[in-house]
Amino acid sequence: MKPTLLSFTSLFVYLGLILAPIGISIQLGLPHRPWMDQVSSNLGMLAFNIILLEFWSTGRIKIISKLLGIDWVLQVHQLFARTAVLLLVAHPFMYSLPGRPHYSPGPANETYLGLSSNSFISGLVGLIVLGIMVGLAITRNKSQGKYETWRAAHAIMAVAVALLGFHHTVHAGRYAQEPIMHLYWQVALGLALLSVAWVYLVKPFTQSMNAYQVVSIKEASHRIWELVIQNSHNKTASYKAGQFAWLKMGNSAPLYENPFSIASCSDGQSSQMTFLIKDVGDFTHQVTELKAGDKIYVDAPYGNFGHKVVSSNSDEIVLIAGGVGIAPIVSLLRKMAQSDQATILQKKIVLIYGNRITEQIVDIAQMVNLSAFKHLELINVITEPDTTWHGLTGVLDKTSLEKILKSSGIQMNAAQYLVCGPAVMIDSVENALADLGVGLGHIDSEKFQYDFGQKNARNRLSLANWLMATSALIASAIYWVNR
Ligand SMILES: Cc1cc2nc3c(=O)[nH]c(=O)nc-3n(C[C@H](O)[C@H](O)[C@H](O)COP(=O)(O)OP(=O)(O)OC[C@H]3O[C@@H](n4cnc5c(N)ncnc54)[C@H](O)[C@@H]3O)c2cc1C
Repeated sequence: MKPTLLSFTSLFVYLGLILAPIGISIQLGLPHRPWMDQVSSNLGMLAFNIILLEFWSTGRIKIISKLLGIDWVLQVHQLFARTAVLLLVAHPFMYSLPGRPHYSPGPANETYLGLSSNSFISGLVGLIVLGIMVGLAITRNKSQGKYETWRAAHAIMAVAVALLGFHHTVHAGRYAQEPIMHLYWQVALGLALLSVAWVYLVKPFTQSMNAYQVVSIKEASHRIWELVIQNSHNKTASYKAGQFAWLKMGNSAPLYENPFSIASCSDGQSSQMTFLIKDVGDFTHQVTELKAGDKIYVDAPYGNFGHKVVSSNSDEIVLIAGGVGIAPIVSLLRKMAQSDQATILQKKIVLIYGNRITEQIVDIAQMVNLSAFKHLELINVITEPDTTWHGLTGVLDKTSLEKILKSSGIQMNAAQYLVCGPAVMIDSVENALADLGVGLGHIDSEKFQYDFGQKNARNRLSLANWLMATSALIASAIYWVNR
């Protein structure tokens, strides 16, 4: 994920969407209500609108993921869920401050609040479920539970929160009695539920009609498997180098799908795709048991890793892969090797490939025509070398990266960096590059993990942006009241 003008613009668009119900209520010129009452309503409307928009930032909408990259989309999803909880917790307490309105049902043009015991219960239960949901999502990585169980629970709770929130909003919210506001919430809820139906019903159906088959499966290196699949109807596999796919094995039912980078490169005609999959758990272990002809269900393509760097004007590109993080880099190298543009093939490319042991190194030369490149240098770094290893050793940190980049003659501040691998490695490399004076705008990274939590320069920037965005939303809720 690279901070770009597009990602900032998208954040503004997203804030605009969140603020839409307040904008509509202002346009409707609804009657004046006590100030605290209105601020509280605004906070409630913003929070519920965020909850409904969250359904669209789960990373499963291809166009959004392609435009902004999966890390950006998921950070927005994870961080704004916190904003919704914050605003929702503040929302009822503000009504209980001095000068609070009477709680009583009634039409839109009355000044008091339309809270009934039913809408009180739906609001309270919705808030509790949301709190549990966000808490479980934040602590998921530390829990022992299965990912699929968490994902099913997350989806069910999300739908419950949306329905409870809708009930509360349209019954307790005085403005929601207004037909246009009522319609707004109906449409927003409908779109949110549509996105769930899209992911859990429509996609599995279309995948089952459009299955792939295993062409070959072989161990490319220690516990890393090279899987080649082909569309059963010979339909062209359409994707860009660096993107990833959600794969299901055995059947197309929802939940049992995992993300994997595409290691091949589309020539616009082939119906095949290649993946490098590391056997690390329940799902990935099944790959080791696949045989030719087995069915695979694909939802692709997603993400935009490397797109801007490969087409950038920079003369120097540094590719940094950790373990199986080499997969999208192989795809990007294949794409560049196919290029007929001399400027691309003449770029100075340094590929730093980190692995724990030598047996994990995937033979890139077997997968990419390295001779097409005029200035490509491949540097392997091993953290746990055996006595036969004579290359570089240790982790990729500031010292080792500085040494490698200097000896390769890379101009650190001018080069573009592509980093892919496990979250811990990405954090270490991004922190090291930041310490070496490389701007975040020069680094495009893709984490093979969805959790937000590591302390690194990029996450600090995201947190700062999120804090500013949340403050702007609160300020708007206070400022934008019917006067
Ligand atoms: C964008 C992206 C691209 C990836 N590309 C590759 C690749 O090319 N090759 C490769 O080997 N690995 C890749 N991964 C990692 C791969 O998805 C996980 O290793 C795999 O899902 C682990 O599943 P498991 O059940 O075998 O292991 P488990 O031990 O059950 O899971 C290990 C961890 O993987 C994550 N995970 C598990 N299931 C899912 C799921 N359904 N969706 C999302 N995350 C999940 C969770 O954080 C979990 O804690 C990629 C991940 C992402 C996010």
